[in-house]
Amino acid sequence: MKDPLSFRADLHCHTTCSDGSFTPEELVQLAAKFKLKGLSITDHDTIQAYSAAIPLCKELGIELIPGAEFSSVLNDASIHILGYGIDIDSPKIIEFCNLHRQRRTNRNRAILEKLESLNMPISPDEIARKDTVGRPHIAQAMIKKGYVKSIQEAFKKFIGDGKPCYDPGKPFSVQETIDIIHEAHGVAVIAHPHLIPRKKTIKALLELNFDGIECYYGNFQANEHQKWVHMAHQKGWLITGGSDFHGDLKPGINLGCSWVNEEVFNKLKDSLDRLK
Ligand code: AMP
Ligand code: ZN
Ligand code: FE
Ligand code: FE
Repeated sequence: MKDPLSFRADLHCHTTCSDGSFTPEELVQLAAKFKLKGLSITDHDTIQAYSAAIPLCKELGIELIPGAEFSSVLNDASIHILGYGIDIDSPKIIEFCNLHRQRRTNRNRAILEKLESLNMPISPDEIARKDTVGRPHIAQAMIKKGYVKSIQEAFKKFIGDGKPCYDPGKPFSVQETIDIIHEAHGVAVIAHPHLIPRKKTIKALLELNFDGIECYYGNFQANEHQKWVHMAHQKGWLITGGSDFHGDLKPGINLGCSWVNEEVFNKLKDSLDRLK
């Protein structure tokens, strides 16, 4: 019998192109070290990692599916959407990532203004980066300045959703995001439904034209996965899964701690082939 662990694919992880602490090259090297056979890098609102990741995955024999994790909202609830198989040369996707970059610049400025009003000044230069600037980078700047002791504390007291210094800016809607992913020949997957607090939000999401659900996630256990696998079967949607590895920016989550097997990975690939 074939070893069921001989093929593992992690379809959710971040690099320094967004709020991960591993560069794309380091991440792919780590995937090879952990003997992952399949991978998708899903940085927040950017596909920048792929220029380095594509040739290295080829060299190391890792099957790479292009991906990204897009931030969106549905009735004020923050929803993350994974886009897999998106054409990374598509002008639509490139423009969408640029618009997200602008959105983040404006939103981050508003967050910095709120921090300043609470006597925690940080200048835009202190969080400036080449690619996606996220709240974890603001949290790191807050630690450096001595305002908080940890990223967790920064989110819990100041910049987490609904906290005094958070500002959502002008986010894209869930439907706009699904449409762009489809226009770029990708599939749209509900990310980590395990973390969506309200049943009403999940119910509304299940009525939309998604293609899949991220059933296996992070350090969640098998009994918590089953509910989402059942839901995906009921909808006739794809199943995906991954660790949401961020390196040092999210301690305790290892690359490959959640993964999909060869059968599930091939189903995703087949459905992407049909969209080409
Ligand atoms: P942003 O995309 O800039 O709004 O930042 C959200 C990101 O911050 C998430 O995708 C997580 O990676 C990270 N994050 C959210 N909540 C927390 C938290 N409580 N502690 C640490 N990191 C968090
Ligand atoms: Zn993140
Ligand atoms: Fe997420
Ligand atoms: Fe993520």
